[in-house]
Amino acid sequence: MRVCTADGAASCWFLCPGCGLLTVKERLSVDLIGQLRYIGADVTVWDLPRERVDLTGPLTHDHLAAFHRLLADDAQLAERVRRLG
Ligand SMILES: [Zn+2]
Repeated sequence: MRVCTADGAASCWFLCPGCGLLTVKERLSVDLIGQLRYIGADVTVWDLPRERVDLTGPLTHDHLAAFHRLLADDAQLAERVRRLG
C-alpha cells in the first residue's frame, strides 16, 4: 500500500491469488487503509516532488495503462527519455 503524505490518499497493489494478475486499487477508503495496516500490509509513504505538485490530479489507472503502452514502444520511450535530459 502506498500513502501520500500530502493528502493521505492511498492505493495498493497485489497479485491475485487466483490468476496471478497484478491488481491495482486506488483511492482506498480510510476504513480499508486501517484494515490493510491492521493485517500488516507493507506501507510505503511518499510525496510528490515539489516540481510535480501542479499536475492535474492523482495518478489513475489510465496513467498506468498509458505508461505500460509507452514501455512497449521503444522509439517513443527513447524520445521521452531524450526530452527529460
Ligand atoms: Zn484473478
